[in-house]
Amino acid sequence: MLKGLISAEDCAACRLCCIFDGCDVAGTPVITPETKEKIISLLPEQRFIELGGALRLCMKPLPGGEAQCPLLDPERGCIMGGEKPFECALWPVTVMRRDESLVLTLSPDCPVANSRPPELIRRICAGIAEEVFKEAERCPALIRPCKDGAVICAEQGKE
Ligand code: SF4
Repeated sequence: MLKGLISAEDCAACRLCCIFDGCDVAGTPVITPETKEKIISLLPEQRFIELGGALRLCMKPLPGGEAQCPLLDPERGCIMGGEKPFECALWPVTVMRRDESLVLTLSPDCPVANSRPPELIRRICAGIAEEVFKEAERCPALIRPCKDGAVICAEQGKE
């Protein structure tokens, strides 16, 4: 959840981004080695899956073909607190590669963020872009391909 764009209360009331299409493993958050250590300290039995050079969580299957993140507690929300996976901490913004540069894009799936003024979204993204791009370049699995029609909120090398 990107601070300043969405409140913790909004997130807790929704949790849409912690439920996935059961077949879409690539759509689940990438787990870095540091994050894996934290997860194991909280859930020692948690299993992981490797996909395209990146580690992902084995999800909890739900009826109807969906899957829920095992770190989502029904009462407390995400048990990772301030140490969420990179993509979760950034959500509903995602790092994508467009041509040669990195961009930040806004997901159309988050109803709260999409109700915010575009100028606020661009300002928040501009404030974090440099640091986020640096982290994504350190772990390229965090960079997703840019889709046609993606809403670009910030672009590498541009103010
Ligand atoms: S790690 Fe936390 S924020 Fe990310 S999908 Fe799982 S429960 Fe949701």
